[in-house]
Amino acid sequence: MRKEENKKLTAAELPVGGIVEAGTAINFHTGSWRSQRPVWNKDKCISCLICWISCPDGSIKIVLNEKGTSVVNGIDYDKCKGCGICAKECPTKISAIAIEQERK
Ligand code: SF4
Ligand code: SF4
Repeated sequence: MRKEENKKLTAAELPVGGIVEAGTAINFHTGSWRSQRPVWNKDKCISCLICWISCPDGSIKIVLNEKGTSVVNGIDYDKCKGCGICAKECPTKISAIAIEQERK
């Protein structure tokens, strides 16, 4: 993406419809929007991946374990907006992902 395409647009300058270009989420550091943050607890996580499926920002990080199975490996705070969906959907009911006030 060219530098001038990253400049912030005013509301009046935004095109009607609002979606400028698909697949650009990686270019934006939406973690700065967060007022609360999910905190993942590895010891309580059962690796069901429901949080990964549910996260609208793709902020749940996964890796392959030694058995070749996908498991959660943390949260990408550079992208996470703090919506809390992951904690809400987690079947461990706030044990494996807790929502806390953002620390500035
Ligand atoms: S709080 Fe929202 S954006 Fe952040 S990891 Fe959870 S579901 Fe994704
Ligand atoms: S939804 Fe909860 S238990 Fe399932 S992988 Fe995510 S943090 Fe772990």
